[in-house]
Amino acid sequence: MTPNQALRNAHDWFEVNSGWAPPDQETLDEWAADGMCRAPDECQVAPDGWCGHGLASWALILRDPDDNGRSRS
Ligand SMILES: [Zn+2]
Repeated sequence: MTPNQALRNAHDWFEVNSGWAPPDQETLDEWAADGMCRAPDECQVAPDGWCGHGLASWALILRDPDDNGRSRS
């Protein structure tokens, strides 16, 4: 399992799930202050890790320039 694989899993998950939304910066900061993060399926994960389902943390996802969960033009 690599970060890239976890990111790929997360993007696959986005395609088959609805109702998710990327956390805002404030939430990310709170998680970081607690030394944790969450995956898109709400699992608690390490900030630079992935959950037991193989989904990358939001911190990893939002750092990914290919992210389609939060596209900024
Ligand atoms: Zn999970």
